[in-house]
Amino acid sequence: MIPNNQLSHTMLSRLRLFCQSLFTFFCLYTGWQFYNFYLYATDTGKTFTPRPPAVEAFLPIGALVSVKRLILGDGYDTIHPAGLTIFIAALLIALLLRKGFCGWICPVGFASNLAERAGKKMRISFSLPAWIDLPLLSLKYLLLGFFAYLILWQMDRASLTAFHYSSYNLISDAKMLHFFLQPSILAGSIMLFLILISFVLKNFWCRYLCPYGGLLGLLALVSPFQIKRAPETCIDCKKCEQICPASIRITNRKTVRNAECIGCLECLPVCPAKDCLTLAVPGKRNTSPLLLPVLVLGLFFLCYFMAKFTGHWQTQITTDGFREFYQQVNSIGHP
Ligand code: SF4
Ligand code: SF4
Ligand code: SF4
Repeated sequence: MIPNNQLSHTMLSRLRLFCQSLFTFFCLYTGWQFYNFYLYATDTGKTFTPRPPAVEAFLPIGALVSVKRLILGDGYDTIHPAGLTIFIAALLIALLLRKGFCGWICPVGFASNLAERAGKKMRISFSLPAWIDLPLLSLKYLLLGFFAYLILWQMDRASLTAFHYSSYNLISDAKMLHFFLQPSILAGSIMLFLILISFVLKNFWCRYLCPYGGLLGLLALVSPFQIKRAPETCIDCKKCEQICPASIRITNRKTVRNAECIGCLECLPVCPAKDCLTLAVPGKRNTSPLLLPVLVLGLFFLCYFMAKFTGHWQTQITTDGFREFYQQVNSIGHP
């Protein structure tokens, strides 16, 4: 493994860009495949394209329901098993490896990073002052609390089962596609606002609104991987804070135990003081930064392969089953 002080910022940045680009490309390809499957299933396209299981990554509410059902002993989700697998992988990564899912995998986070960089180049981006930033930061936790209250607290076993086997849950992927292909004026305006504001305000969606990221951030607080700063060697140049995509006040602390830290590690190689800013694990204060992305990707693919080879990746709904319900996509509402 390459030690911290020999790893250039460019190299680490490129590695992250490469990982994020690969996942984004895969995600776009999945979206395209699913679109063609949808056309086929609704008799608007002639060519059969298999339904890509990975599309279920975009159904986190259903995955949360499935996690609760799994904990209650109702078995692994057989309708959207890939969605549950990806959700569990993201939770495990957060628990063990910080918000590595956000920093190295999530395509939405990548798009947000690109918008931020473009905004910087156009000199239109700025950060909000702390008095607005802090209350806005709580929005994603409010949204998370709302979903957690509804699903984890309010829904009993019977209502979880009713939701799980509802036709709405079965076609939730098609509903999502509809939402993006034919948004209402309000939904379209909100999406346009979120895209445009991402160029101006750094990581607007991820920082303030994404409840998924909020959950991962809370779990990451107990992660054994931490960014550590040695105040005795720190020259207070603030380079780490200038590069940090999560706008963390690194120089205020010895250990970055912060729910916003996405484990991107961009702060490490820019630090000019030797062994001042390091990636630490219990018992070792200075471990190679490459260890974190290697483990993030390793754990993600381990979950994928385990699900795939134990029959927990592919849905048990047949193509004809999807066809029957997709054709009623406009008439099926929330249970
Ligand atoms: S905060 Fe949400 S959208 Fe942003 S990178 Fe994390 S999971 Fe993805
Ligand atoms: S503290 Fe370092 S690792 Fe964490 S988000 Fe900021 S730059 Fe990335
Ligand atoms: S980059 Fe290193 S030396 Fe500079 S403020 Fe951050 S921790 Fe201190």
